[in-house]
Amino acid sequence: MAAKKNKVRVEMRKNRTKPPRGNDLTRQFQVNAADDLSNAERVRSKGELSRHRTIVTDGDAGMPGANSDCVRGRVFKVHGLHSYVELDDGRQVRCSVRRVLKNLQTDERSIVTTGDWVWVRIGGTGSGVSGLAEPNPTTPSAKPQTPNPIPDAVIERVEPRRGVLTRASRRREHVLVANVDQLVIVMSLVEPELKPHLIDRYVASAEKGQLMPILALNKIDLADRADLQPMVGAYSQMGIPTVLTSARTGEGIERLRALLKDRATVFSGQSGVGKSSLLNALEPGLSLRVREVSDVNNKGKHTTTTAELIRLSFGGWVVDTPGVRQLQLWDTRPEEVEGYFREFKPFVALCRYPDCSHTHETGCRVKDAVRRKFISERRYVSFLGLFNGLEE
Ligand code: GDP
Repeated sequence: MAAKKNKVRVEMRKNRTKPPRGNDLTRQFQVNAADDLSNAERVRSKGELSRHRTIVTDGDAGMPGANSDCVRGRVFKVHGLHSYVELDDGRQVRCSVRRVLKNLQTDERSIVTTGDWVWVRIGGTGSGVSGLAEPNPTTPSAKPQTPNPIPDAVIERVEPRRGVLTRASRRREHVLVANVDQLVIVMSLVEPELKPHLIDRYVASAEKGQLMPILALNKIDLADRADLQPMVGAYSQMGIPTVLTSARTGEGIERLRALLKDRATVFSGQSGVGKSSLLNALEPGLSLRVREVSDVNNKGKHTTTTAELIRLSFGGWVVDTPGVRQLQLWDTRPEEVEGYFREFKPFVALCRYPDCSHTHETGCRVKDAVRRKFISERRYVSFLGLFNGLEE
């Protein structure tokens, strides 16, 4: 039975050029000065009215272009005008984006981004998949091969996004990667030395992006683990999985692998903390590209912020992008920061003033909880640092 057709009214981007204006407005005004406002309608900008269009879709109303002869896949890379999609059956295809999607009204910089789940129409061949590149069976996790170009493979629909990693780009939100579950915050214990407040900054970024934070404290082979127990205990108690790792000895790698399995994960952390080495230990097939990216002395070369999803052989994906090495809390108001410190929550509602900033007010239950050691002083100092940084 043919799929039911739906007509959907969608909002399009406004035309960039101004609509033409009548050239005898002054004369008309003098002649029709006493006329009612309906005359004004004729010179009204068409922009507001004309940028809607009715399009026909199958199935899911409200989502343009989901058709029964489309196949589902995931965008693993966007490069220029092309998106590279891995279909659900593992094959990869290079796609353009349906014109109507490009013109939809959106505040985001790109309508298709790495990590998007999409529906793709493969040219009108009927069988649909001729010319697709087969995945390389020997290196399932290696950088995907660029498939043969198929000019008529088109992304028809983008599914709604959840966990996203964004950055500001020319005052607009640039979604670096969509549909990720978690953020592994890699910190080294030595070389470079541990920076606890930086951990909290990354944790706050994860909370803001609705990503599950995971803390990997790396280079444990060079550190004294007894000193670390209080910190590991504190984060674990907050529900943030914390793993002591060594890419060199392999300690903690199995646990990290279990946390990554079947999830989409972004790695973040300063240069030199061992992100690439950890990825390499987790997924040995990655070694070539990791070495290339991890070349600390060459990091200036990696100015691209193109994110790329890499499939893990044990299930799940990791995102490799130099663009997320330094996460920043952008587009954040100071009063939002308390929400990114999960252990503050039970106390916030008890403060005397409903708009308590937890910095100087009397009757602040958060400060009280710090005094009574329910909240760690170190975390509170991190909170103040973020709060004051945004106030400036
Ligand atoms: P990235 O910049 O975060 O990707 O860091 P790299 O993976 O390139 O590692 C930076 C340096 O730290 C390299 O010299 C690694 O050999 C070293 N390294 C990484 N992990 C460990 C570890 O667990 N123990 C020790 N001792 N060295 C490590």
